[in-house]
Amino acid sequence: MKTITVKSRSRNEFIDITSDLKDIVRQAGVKSGACYIFVPHTTAGITINEGADPAVKRDIIAALERVFPVDGDYRHGEGNSDAHIKASLTGSSSVVLIEDGKLVLGTWQSVYFCEFDGPRNRQVLVKLI
Ligand code: ZN
Repeated sequence: MKTITVKSRSRNEFIDITSDLKDIVRQAGVKSGACYIFVPHTTAGITINEGADPAVKRDIIAALERVFPVDGDYRHGEGNSDAHIKASLTGSSSVVLIEDGKLVLGTWQSVYFCEFDGPRNRQVLVKLI
C-alpha cells in the first residue's frame, strides 16, 4: 500500500492527485490491473472529473457550498456537518483500471482529492491490484 500526503489550503478544495497516482503505477511496474484509491477521512472525499478547465472544479465546489452551507440546520456539535455531508456525496474511494502500464482515464478526466474541512494535512491510500 502507498500513501499520498495532501496538504489542503482552503476549507473546500479539489486537489488533482492524478500525477501522484501515475507515478505509483509506473514505479510499481503493474501492466494490467486496478488502482484502488481510498480516503481515510470523514470530511474529505475522492472524485473523478474534468481536469482541463479549472472552472469545472470551481463550479462543483460552489454548487456544493450553495446546497450545503456551513451554517445550515445541523445537529452535529463539531460544526462541520456540511463537510461530512459533502464527503458522503463524493464518497471515500475510487477505482481506476490499469492497462498497458497506464491508468485508464478519459481524455478530460483527473482524479481529485476533495477537501471539505481544510486547511489540513491529509492522506490518500493507494493499493494496486
Ligand atoms: Zn465533525
